[in-house]
Amino acid sequence: MIPAVHKLTRTLCVRGAVQGVGFRPFVYRTARSCGIGGWVRNNARGVVIQAVGTEGDLDLFQVIIEQAPAPARVREIRIAEEAEGGNGTSFLILASGREGDISAGVTADLATCPDCLRELLDPCDRRYRYPFANCTHCGPRYSILEKIPYDRSHTTMRRFEMCPNCRGEYEDPANRRFHAQPNACPDCGPQLTLWDVGGRGLAMRNEALCAAAESVRMGKIIAVKGLGGFHLMVDARNDAAIGELRRRKHREEKPLALMFPSMDMIRGVCRVSDLEERLLTGAEAPIVLLNKQNRAEFMSVSANPMLGAMLPYTPLHHLLMRDLDSPAVATSGNLSDEPICIDEGEALVRLKGIADLFLVHDRPIARPVEDSIVRVMAGRATLLRRARGYAPQSVPMHQGISAPILAVGGQMKNTVALGIGAEAIISQHLGDLGTEPAARAFEDAVRTLEGLYDTRPARVVCDLHPDYPTTRFASEYGRPVMAVQHHHAHVVSCMMENNLSGPVLGVAWDGTGYGPDGTVWGGEFMLADRGAYRRVGHLRCFALPGGDQAVREPRRSALGLLYEVFGESVFDMPDLPSVRAFDSASLRVMRQMLKKGVQSPRTSSAGRLFDAVASILDLRQLSKYEGQAAMELEFAATEVANEGYHIPCATQADWEPMLRRMIEDLGNGRDRGEIARLFHEALACLISEMARISGEKSVVLSGGCFQNALLLERTVALLEQGGFVPYRHSQVPSNDGGISLGQLGVAIHRKTDVEERRS
Ligand code: ZN
Ligand code: ZN
Ligand code: FE
Repeated sequence: MIPAVHKLTRTLCVRGAVQGVGFRPFVYRTARSCGIGGWVRNNARGVVIQAVGTEGDLDLFQVIIEQAPAPARVREIRIAEEAEGGNGTSFLILASGREGDISAGVTADLATCPDCLRELLDPCDRRYRYPFANCTHCGPRYSILEKIPYDRSHTTMRRFEMCPNCRGEYEDPANRRFHAQPNACPDCGPQLTLWDVGGRGLAMRNEALCAAAESVRMGKIIAVKGLGGFHLMVDARNDAAIGELRRRKHREEKPLALMFPSMDMIRGVCRVSDLEERLLTGAEAPIVLLNKQNRAEFMSVSANPMLGAMLPYTPLHHLLMRDLDSPAVATSGNLSDEPICIDEGEALVRLKGIADLFLVHDRPIARPVEDSIVRVMAGRATLLRRARGYAPQSVPMHQGISAPILAVGGQMKNTVALGIGAEAIISQHLGDLGTEPAARAFEDAVRTLEGLYDTRPARVVCDLHPDYPTTRFASEYGRPVMAVQHHHAHVVSCMMENNLSGPVLGVAWDGTGYGPDGTVWGGEFMLADRGAYRRVGHLRCFALPGGDQAVREPRRSALGLLYEVFGESVFDMPDLPSVRAFDSASLRVMRQMLKKGVQSPRTSSAGRLFDAVASILDLRQLSKYEGQAAMELEFAATEVANEGYHIPCATQADWEPMLRRMIEDLGNGRDRGEIARLFHEALACLISEMARISGEKSVVLSGGCFQNALLLERTVALLEQGGFVPYRHSQVPSNDGGISLGQLGVAIHRKTDVEERRS
């Protein structure tokens, strides 16, 4: 007699990025090949599998599931139940259930996969030149998602009824589009239209696409409705058209991003490392900051030695770029500082006077999701703007919380974050909250997190700054509020990302943050753990005449710095470029402000120190965009073997000796590139000396200043030489885009609502 095969029924709960990434079809195929029966379905926490089979088959099945291919990512498989017995070898994909708290990984938008691209370019394929093709491995996700679980009826695709062909693919387990929620084809899916500035249709479908490409070639500015919002596109080799775009968009000098038709074409213009190529061609498809081969190329796009480059990431962009066969500027469809426009009706109003034509489609965009920006620094990819392709991927908090917490971030480059379970869900980059549309985008982002996770957070955490709009929002949110010091949030953000609990030496260097002592902080050294910090050092303070106005005028920071050292005699030094940069009337006003200390807050800001030095070297007196002066200082730096400047290490790190030598060197006609380099070196040395004195082995680098590759790379190198372990950002920006994550970390670990400082 043949013994009966002993079977088990095992229920597996799978968590991670497992919805909207072809995970259930993968489970289905794996079950079939392992001889497993049962079912799989999405639920609010992820995916549940009930598997029936022999113990050996089940173990093998589980191992394969654990190694699901990208874009799926399994973080955890928990065996919820195991019982003797069970029968049946058929395996089913069931409709979504809805139980438990909603914390399934909502997936980010994914760039077009090679299979879809092949079909797109195949004249025999039914999706030939169809701009909205996608499959379980690629296509829109977060930008079309209205609520979870991720099913077509919960996306903006719900208005499109699948045709029999698409329905067949959707229901065929062997098909690449099996349960691909945004599945569509030319017969049943979204379509393109070309509009004039009045919203009158000029052409449809492929004709609209061809006409748009032709208009770009003719030097026109085209607003293109893409994945997460509108781009303004213009021929990257047409300086006159770019000049016109800059004039209309009020974006005088800030570099513009380029979309290239191919990797080869990027390589023809920029130096591209293996890592940079992987970033460009990955499913996240961000803008990658690359070094130009020849600095003089594309000067109207970017006057600095770097270029922000990306590849097409939707079928629409692939088709457009192929028709153009030349790089195009693809910049956010907005006025400076406003969030990106997502609705075609709204675009006609907000982009009126900017775009000549509108290439639109009828698939609604659920929320603005801008292009992400990555820079490779010290050998590692570092996000400078975290949006499309990355948001809303969660960051593990390594500690579970019982009730959800909302973190509202700062003000500039804002993001909001929701702590739920053991994960931090960080919103996409929302921008600077100074404008009305930005304020609305911020509130929408909070509602989105609440909606997607079906929760009303029990606590809210904000910046200590009383005047940030986010702080006001928090106080009106109707939940207990905790305020967190800005630079502590920076440091904890980096600690969370690196799974550190502290204590560490935190180095938080940025432009501006509210200090509890009435000064503006920004060049901070703190001994910190996640719950508390002690400020153990900072850059020597100086006055900022005009306060916030100094952000746009590096010459003001310079004057404040010089006044600190030379007092009123600085006004008798007309040879200094920073003094020369003012007319005599403004100079008198500055003098009065500094002398009387009115509207001249004192600051320890490292960002303003960079500005001041850029002004003293006469590289930049007025900034046209945030960070311009510091960037120019970084790019000006040249190799130099000479002895560096020195900032003596102390509780108040004094830059005065360095400043005096700098001015002396300038007077002696020393090369400004060398001075810029020595300045960076002095700051990196200061950090490594502070590390030595602090006695902490772990040094955490955060704040916007560490977007400067020269500063970061030199600091990391010196710390490593000194036997320290430097930690820096990678998945979350070091700028204020990381503040919300840091706020969450502090809120989880701080003992009380008011206690801040460790003694
Ligand atoms: Zn695909
Ligand atoms: Zn169809
Ligand atoms: Fe900051």
